[in-house]
Amino acid sequence: MLDTPGFVEVTPTADISVDQHGNRAKCLQRLVRMDLPVPQTVAIPFATVRKIAEGTMPDLDTLIGLFDGTPRLLSVRSSSQTSDWGGPGAVLNIGMNSDAHDRLSNTLGQCAADEAYSRFICAYATEVMRLDEEPFVGAAGPAESLEIYEAECDAPFPQSLTEQLGGVLRSMARAWEGTSARLLRQAQGAPADAGLGLVVQRMAHGMGPGQSGVGVVQFVSPLTGEPQVTGRYTGQARGRDMVGDRATALYLRHDARGPSLEDRLPEIYAELLEAGALCRRRLREEMSIEFTIDQGRLFVLDAVRCPREPRASVAIATALARDGIIRRSDALLRIAPGTLGRLLHRQLDPGSERQVLSRGVAASPGAAAGRIVFDSAAAQAALSRDEPCILVRRETAPDDVRGMHAADGVLTERGGSTSHAAVIARGLGLPCVTGATGLRIDAAKRRLTLADGTVLKEGDEITIDGSSGEVLAGVVPTQEPMLDDAFADLMSWSDAVRDIGVRANADTVADATLARTFGVDGIGLCRTEHMFFDASRLTVMREMIFAEGSEDRAAALERLLPMQRADFTELFKLMSGLPVCIRLLDPPLHEFLPAESEGIHALAEALDRPVSEVKSRIASMQEYNPMLGMRGVRLGIAVPEIYEMQARAIFEATVAALRTGAEIAPEIMIPLVTARREVELVRRRIDAVAAAVRQETGMAFEFRVGVMVETPRAALRAGEIAETADFLSFGTNDLTQMTYGLSRDDAGRFMSAYVNEGVYPEDPFTTLDVDGVGELLLLGASRGRKAREGLTVALCGEHGGSPESIAFCRLAGFDYVSCSPFRVPVAKLAAAQATI
Ligand code: PEP
Ligand code: MG
Repeated sequence: MLDTPGFVEVTPTADISVDQHGNRAKCLQRLVRMDLPVPQTVAIPFATVRKIAEGTMPDLDTLIGLFDGTPRLLSVRSSSQTSDWGGPGAVLNIGMNSDAHDRLSNTLGQCAADEAYSRFICAYATEVMRLDEEPFVGAAGPAESLEIYEAECDAPFPQSLTEQLGGVLRSMARAWEGTSARLLRQAQGAPADAGLGLVVQRMAHGMGPGQSGVGVVQFVSPLTGEPQVTGRYTGQARGRDMVGDRATALYLRHDARGPSLEDRLPEIYAELLEAGALCRRRLREEMSIEFTIDQGRLFVLDAVRCPREPRASVAIATALARDGIIRRSDALLRIAPGTLGRLLHRQLDPGSERQVLSRGVAASPGAAAGRIVFDSAAAQAALSRDEPCILVRRETAPDDVRGMHAADGVLTERGGSTSHAAVIARGLGLPCVTGATGLRIDAAKRRLTLADGTVLKEGDEITIDGSSGEVLAGVVPTQEPMLDDAFADLMSWSDAVRDIGVRANADTVADATLARTFGVDGIGLCRTEHMFFDASRLTVMREMIFAEGSEDRAAALERLLPMQRADFTELFKLMSGLPVCIRLLDPPLHEFLPAESEGIHALAEALDRPVSEVKSRIASMQEYNPMLGMRGVRLGIAVPEIYEMQARAIFEATVAALRTGAEIAPEIMIPLVTARREVELVRRRIDAVAAAVRQETGMAFEFRVGVMVETPRAALRAGEIAETADFLSFGTNDLTQMTYGLSRDDAGRFMSAYVNEGVYPEDPFTTLDVDGVGELLLLGASRGRKAREGLTVALCGEHGGSPESIAFCRLAGFDYVSCSPFRVPVAKLAAAQATI
């Protein structure tokens, strides 16, 4: 026995808290305070439930004594701190025994009493005694159920309420401590020592003579959040002449297709609407109300935050704020930035051609195309190469979550809409198709076989549509998502409070258009190398790389110039009025050369050179460690004509855009800097090109030159570097790579082991390493700012879209972060939340 009662009746003034009694208990107390018709309830706190699991029961006779009624029938439900953490299912009708059965036969009718008793015997047998459900389901009535129970347990079915309640409480308390329950709730963010509370409630019967039934109602659409009465109601009218009739499902509101609660019981329907409105106002939330109608009387058994898709979350939170029920800042805090991804998912272009390879469950919406990968390591490696991929697994397990973070979509051979893959993918806003028919995956051989025998290998491209469940061949074009007014409100309210800029990493007009749709503050990184991957440009680029003398090179650059100029002009016109930061060429030149023999032959043909020469030239350009080799500003120093051409293209585009009335003052960014002198040399040439273009065109224009801080030395020497730079932008992808001495392209292979072993708390390429890389950011920013007042400081690595990194940059006084266009809304909301 416990020293204290170990439970408390839920009254308006009782001392009940979410931290000790759980969310359901607290919510029930709020409903009681609102005078809603809640059946009498007792809350058992975490501490008592823990003791129950260990074998010490509270004084159940005293607990039972708090309830009145003949017979005394109770229910027990779980009450964890956060409803997402789950808990064992409810057990109803505790207290059913042969006496209670007789009494109920007189009041509710034989049929209802039989059903209540049979169901309870079955629930007790399966939940408490862990027997198989099957024989009980087939039983003809309580008498047969009792026989089965006795045969299976070698003991009669317990008739005492105390014993039954004790059994139920013990089994629920122990279920919470089970390994799978623990893992499931920890996946939802629960701490290892999360507690379970229980609530014991007097049963209100949803059956019996007169108008009786059970239901659940919510007042908004769980998909869109728009006002709409949804839910279900099952009436179990069992009058004398209706004995044996089945339970009948009714529509909640008036519906031409069949009978409705609104038509049958208009007062109760009105009472429910009122309860919903009251909950919304007083609990400041859209609630889903579980109710029972007991012989014409409404009971509210429970109210939980109604389930919702991310789109509905935004609609509900913004509507509550617009109605003055919550503050705008509260509305912003109610949306997890990560879930916005779901709102922003792409759809398949309806006009595109499709070849359906397989169909499965539409488990998480959105369309994604990419190369097939079969495990997390391959997905992470693809991410570090910036290559979209689809993670294909038989089914997923917690070990695959890392790969799901890295992948663009997930496809599984097994599973359904609530399988691990589906649940996690929805949480991540990742398109997902589960249980694809006819698919056979052989992960060891890195291939999958379709129903018709077609074999796809790792690296082959597919598209999945998580909204329809289709798996399609190749890369099917996709369309941008539709954004509604609630989303627009969320963005504009975020803009009003955030105090750090959010720019986009955008290389193309398509990226920039999307970024503008999201109301971005500018472009923080335009990676110019991505402009050369188009086949026709690649050939000219290759000619430039193969040029023997500076004359040949100048000729090739001459042909690249108009292409770059046209790109920049488009970008500047589109981004008129906003800053655009263009990074000069960064990757090693040999990345532009073909690696496979087919490409080498094509290049030899295009260049009109022997294959052997092309091959030996490519070989001569190979580096042992290209990421630390001839790339970034080193190219600018060693082959200055390339940066000069790019600077000219930028300035000529500026003039062209200005002439169309656009407002533009470009920012030029120098990558991979390690020393002040590099910046001086490049800057001097850029200034000279600017002067020449001004003179040739007779047009004045402004521009700024800045430095990407991507090497530890640049961070350490930021003071002297800033003397020649207008801004510093931390490229945390390379900075992480170089600070750790960890290859961006290879770390995927061992990162899982590192994180699993606790060497690193997280993958530092995904979550900013605040301790190490973060220290370099702080150091670089402060040294830079000390040397140059008003220096702009920014972050443009992949971390720019992660809420934790944004909070860090904001605290460090950065001017802006820059991230991929799709992460802009996430970044804006996270930036706003960081200020609240
Ligand atoms: C970086 O290194 O952080 C960066 C933004 O540049 P890239 O990813 O193109 O190397
Ligand atoms: Mg970089």
